[in-house]
Amino acid sequence: MTGKTIGIMGAMPQEIDGVTALLNNPVRRVIGMRSYTSGTINGINTVVVFSRWGKVAAAATAATLIHVFNVDEIIFTGVAGAIDHSLNVGDIVIAKRLYQHDMDARPLMQQFEVPLLGKTFFECDDSKLNKIREAISPLIIDGILKDRIGADVLAQFGISTPNLHIGDIASGDQFFANNEQKATLQAALPTILCVEMEGAAVAQVCFEHKVAFTIIRTISDAADEQSHIDFPRFIEEVSSKYSVCIIKQLYNTN
Ligand code: SAH
Repeated sequence: MTGKTIGIMGAMPQEIDGVTALLNNPVRRVIGMRSYTSGTINGINTVVVFSRWGKVAAAATAATLIHVFNVDEIIFTGVAGAIDHSLNVGDIVIAKRLYQHDMDARPLMQQFEVPLLGKTFFECDDSKLNKIREAISPLIIDGILKDRIGADVLAQFGISTPNLHIGDIASGDQFFANNEQKATLQAALPTILCVEMEGAAVAQVCFEHKVAFTIIRTISDAADEQSHIDFPRFIEEVSSKYSVCIIKQLYNTN
């Protein structure tokens, strides 16, 4: 086969199942406790995989996508907790810069610096971000998400009109579930919009292999004391549908 190959990763099985269902001629292969399904979406070679949670799981999965499946690009879709007060449940965040908030080799180097790379964040370039914004904004502007999910289900989660943000994301091996954790992160990294557990690990592996990456997150919780409540229902009824809608928009297929 010719043409590029895209890898799609997600950290929740429900989200990835919906995307796997978009594949034509799916072929499954298990490597290192992950199930990789290859096929095509809209004629583009694609491999879809549930990465599991956390930086190590995500990095191992991204490396396999690159080395075994020769992907030219990785797209990660998943959920995240809101850190910035302007974000609400149901909003979408496209990552501009990704930080590993639990990377701290002080006093050897500054906080957040990834050893030997001399970088405190991994960045997505503006022209790519603009293309992604253009592809995804109809979900909100044209009301595609409201139609697919249903205004009543959205209302149950307090979502009226979701917003699309482009900005900074922090990743680390911690589930954020209290205001103290949030405040500490905000004080150290004031530009962070949301927190999750995989994005910056995928970004590092992609950076090291010169593979393009896109990290897109749906806000599932406010990273506070309530963040575990309704999480499974949100994944099942809302974010799994967001992921499918986002991927369809990025592939321009409906
Ligand atoms: N409690 C859930 C599991 C959540 S795991 C359950 O039992 O099903 C958290 C996953 O969602 C990770 O992949 C992470 O990237 C993302 N995430 C969502 N909200 C988060 C938060 N508040 N803090 C950290 N990660 C979060």
